[in-house]
Amino acid sequence: MNCPSTEEIMDYLRGAIRPVTGLEVGAHLATGCPACAEQRQWLGEVLAVTAGDRSYDFPAATITRVVEWYKEQTAGKAGLIRKLAAQLVFDSLQPSHLAPVRSGMAGAGAAAGRQVLYRAEGYDIDLRFEGGDESDDEDLIGQILPGDRPPQTSDRVAVRLLRDELEVAASRANARGVFKFARVRSGTYDLMIDVPEGEILISRIATARAV
Ligand SMILES: [Zn+2]
Repeated sequence: MNCPSTEEIMDYLRGAIRPVTGLEVGAHLATGCPACAEQRQWLGEVLAVTAGDRSYDFPAATITRVVEWYKEQTAGKAGLIRKLAAQLVFDSLQPSHLAPVRSGMAGAGAAAGRQVLYRAEGYDIDLRFEGGDESDDEDLIGQILPGDRPPQTSDRVAVRLLRDELEVAASRANARGVFKFARVRSGTYDLMIDVPEGEILISRIATARAV
């Protein structure tokens, strides 16, 4: 992404940003962009000082944000869910630049549609997009593989499909960690999976016809 706005960096620092944007801001800050590093430093100091001393005169918008932040923190568990960013490790439509995966995964979905494999915190998330009945929609079939954890770790976990940061569908995995979203309109989505350690985010995944 381009440099985030001051507001986005502020939201990011106080942990109140929407998850997808938050990961993008975090990724951008991790690039070491000097302008944003300076903003981050300054805003961090503002937050630290306003947290400790009410007598400082800060812009009203800054105070408002800090007050909102306090309300969220004291209201409950909002904002405390750990976000786990998933990494793409296999894509049937782009086989060349990615590391090999264990046999049995690759190739199965390559004949039609798209198969991708993501990894986060030792979880493997296998996603397949297959043509639906209508020309502009596809089925998404996924499986959450919990790696070294007990198999029941992925049983009944909640899975949400988002487009432009809005939830468009929600489901739960079955006992084998398999979930399905039928007749998804071709496009680019985010997928969020609630696992015991936090929330896995698969960001900007394109359906087979949207690649
Ligand atoms: Zn920047």
